Amino acid sequence: SQLTLKYEHTIKANDFVLAGAATTADFIPPNAHVRLRMEGQESEVYSQAPDSDERDVDNAVQAAQRAFPTWSKTSLEKRYEILIKISQLIEKNKDELVALEINDTGKAYDIVSHVDIPRSSSNFRFFATGIMHFASESHHMPEGGLNYTMRDPIGVVACISPWNFPLYLFTWKIAPALAAGNTVIGKPSEVTPMTAFRFSQICQEAGLPAGVLNIIHGVGKKVGNAISEHKNIKAISFTGSTQTAKTIASIAAPMFKKISFELGGKNPNVIFADCNWDKMIATTLRSSFSNSGQVCLCGSRIFIQESIYEKFKTYFLDKVKNLKVGDPMDKETKFGSMVSKPHFDKVMGCIELAKKEGGKILAGGKQLKLTGRCANGYFIEPTVIEGLPQNCRTNNEEIFGPVVTLQPFKTEAEAVELANAVEYGLSATLWTQDVNRAHQVAAKLECGVVWVNDWMVRDLRTPFGGKKSSGVGKEGGWESLRFFTEPKNIYVGI
Ligand code: NAD
Repeated sequence: SQLTLKYEHTIKANDFVLAGAATTADFIPPNAHVRLRMEGQESEVYSQAPDSDERDVDNAVQAAQRAFPTWSKTSLEKRYEILIKISQLIEKNKDELVALEINDTGKAYDIVSHVDIPRSSSNFRFFATGIMHFASESHHMPEGGLNYTMRDPIGVVACISPWNFPLYLFTWKIAPALAAGNTVIGKPSEVTPMTAFRFSQICQEAGLPAGVLNIIHGVGKKVGNAISEHKNIKAISFTGSTQTAKTIASIAAPMFKKISFELGGKNPNVIFADCNWDKMIATTLRSSFSNSGQVCLCGSRIFIQESIYEKFKTYFLDKVKNLKVGDPMDKETKFGSMVSKPHFDKVMGCIELAKKEGGKILAGGKQLKLTGRCANGYFIEPTVIEGLPQNCRTNNEEIFGPVVTLQPFKTEAEAVELANAVEYGLSATLWTQDVNRAHQVAAKLECGVVWVNDWMVRDLRTPFGGKKSSGVGKEGGWESLRFFTEPKNIYVGI
């Protein structure tokens, strides 16, 4: 049941340059032969990517500026046709993209084949059709005048994405930006550049004109700062860490760039005694450890009503101990590795901190050593910790690994207070069968997304994003298309 990777050791740095140039006829990174090396990374090198810098960003912006007048005036039908074609080609090349994504990330086959790649395709399908229905508002005045609002593309915009859902989150931004008529500078994470490279070939095959999408590989700080500083990039859509967003904001805000930030989380999973037990246990396993906890929406703080705390612990730990962590390429594997050595070190450091803070490790807590192909992989046992108060670092800082903490609560008011007691406000999960309580508690939770009696059910039409330090602005449906357009109101007197 193993997938084989045809691309191992076959793609040279030059190929990336050609691929980048494919969508930007005149965009050739000058220093593309330099291998991209991650600091502290000790994994085997299986390919190379360009180590771009501010000259590449400037070249890309110039190409995007040249392409903008034509692309922004290209008919909606034509844009739809190209974007649908991209969606179809992602679908057609699904098996290959799945294998590339697994190899780059260490994510398990299960999530990559069911979530990452299918959703990358549906992002393009969704916004290709969405733009055909995107209408602007008009307001009729009582005295006969008329207000109408134009929604024009912004110009050259940047889409910067993280490593945990590489192609999925990259396309989640690029699809609406292109659909709305912008030309794009795309910056995938340097930790996981491979599917972005393959995607650039797909865009070329789909007939996306030169200069419309310009994908720049390279180290975050170098390329990212050059993007934030470039005066001709008018908007930045960023998904990544809160810390990086602060850097971007400090550069982009004084230049009055439009920004949309999707950032970190420390999400509560609040479980009341009247929950649907079986569904809650099964879903809580997923919301805790999906993608080995490397999902911004994972519920890393589990709050359990006191009367069911011990029962929860027994059932949950029993299931956690049986979770199968293994070779990500194995189709039976549900949980893969950490994305990189630096991230592995970070998560292990967080577990050590939790112990120092007085946390009791109920399950996991150690590196998991596999045999064979994955003997040198960075695997961590699914880890459950109890006994820590809300006001410690472990319960406030994002770990982004397979680590959850358990905390009991007595009343609804206490649950809400604990859930809201962090700087983050991305998502929350709530388990109760009392419909009044569900609505009341959901309304009080300080976050952008609440799931009641479920987790990570995505609907591309709904606003997605966080509050507080988890983000600024929302993505999804009209929100994305509004972000990537500039409204202008015109009044006509009659
Ligand atoms: P990161 O902030 O390190 O990197 C994200 C992207 O920003 C990468 O492409 C990186 O190259 C680039 N970057 C780095 N420094 C930059 C700079 N100075 N200027 C501009 N760009 C720069 O984040 P990461 O480690 O790749 O991703 C993990 C984080 O992303 C976690 O905090 C996670 O919660 C968050 N995340 C949030 C969401 C969401 O929707 N809210 C989704 C996925 C991940």
